[in-house]
Amino acid sequence: MSQSLLRRGILAAAESETVARFVHRYGPNLGAFRFVAGNTLDETVPVLRELNRRGLSVTLDRLGEGEVDSAYADQAEAAYLAILDRIALEQLDSHVSLKLTQLGLDLDREAAKARLVAIVSKAEAQGSFVRVDMEDSRHTEATVSLFMELRPDHPGIGLVIQSYLRRSEADMRELARLRANVRVVKGAYLEPPAVAFPDKAEVDENFKRLVAMHLEAGCYTAVATHDPVLIAFTEDFTRSHGIGPDRFEFQMLFGIRPALQQALAERGYRVRVYVPFGPDWYPYFMRRLAERPANLGFFLKNLARR
Ligand SMILES: Cc1cc2nc3c(=O)[nH]c(=O)nc-3n(C[C@H](O)[C@H](O)[C@H](O)COP(=O)(O)OP(=O)(O)OC[C@H]3O[C@@H](n4cnc5c(N)ncnc54)[C@H](O)[C@@H]3O)c2cc1C
Repeated sequence: MSQSLLRRGILAAAESETVARFVHRYGPNLGAFRFVAGNTLDETVPVLRELNRRGLSVTLDRLGEGEVDSAYADQAEAAYLAILDRIALEQLDSHVSLKLTQLGLDLDREAAKARLVAIVSKAEAQGSFVRVDMEDSRHTEATVSLFMELRPDHPGIGLVIQSYLRRSEADMRELARLRANVRVVKGAYLEPPAVAFPDKAEVDENFKRLVAMHLEAGCYTAVATHDPVLIAFTEDFTRSHGIGPDRFEFQMLFGIRPALQQALAERGYRVRVYVPFGPDWYPYFMRRLAERPANLGFFLKNLARR
């Protein structure tokens, strides 16, 4: 089976109740915590300290997304406010990343916006930063438009753009007008060809185009990939265009290619590790399995050993 078919198969299976029950039961012992730093903030803080000690910056994600009620969304807001306090108290080199569905985007846009403003305002007062992750394409328009509304008054907020989406080049042009800090990623969800390039080569080419466009427009760019070709592209592009390491950063996920993270930091680049924590790890873990079929092999091998 081709990798992209397997990826689509895993992402589709993740929607099944049976698969969810099975992975919830066995996932923690079978590798889910390779990608998730802890269940609680207390468990996660030592991980952040260690990453910082090794010269790596962090963006901390409290896992949670999808269908939520307003009590859950309020809890998420309170949790992010507490996370920002803890980051400040411990003087950690860490921003936060969040998903708008966790703040209730699907329930009530204005309430979700108010929760986001509360979090961003606190981050800005502390000199920190909030990255709005990008979810599946049913949420792209709502996420981009909410971001566009807030960005003029809130420099402490950034967005994510996915290179697999056909619309991303147009979004990037608008974001450059706002001088927005953008994280460029390939994209992790199951999307139809009408909205996303089905071909990996096109996704990779578009990634390069988006990174180059944003850097050339003079905007801070977070290049979020573990792909050595795209990392080398960014190094060459910035060098040949005289763009200093203060204008961009590399970002990678906790538990993925740690040696590469370290090597880039040692070469003088800013490297930020995306560290997720919390009990709602299921959808995040399934996306990590889907990205690399070898991860599924690792999971199944451990299962067979039990
Ligand atoms: C910091 C950060 C934030 C992100 N935020 C978002 C977001 O907001 N929205 C969104 O849709 N996506 C997000 N993603 C995920 C992204 O869209 C990709 O799905 C993911 O990064 C894999 O793509 P890649 O660029 O690493 O390239 P790939 O071509 O998928 O991988 C390149 C190489 O990296 C390694 N690798 C990649 N993934 C894995 C894995 N799961 N396990 C083990 N090794 C792996 C392998 O060696 C692989 O050969 C984020 C990724 C990063 C790094």
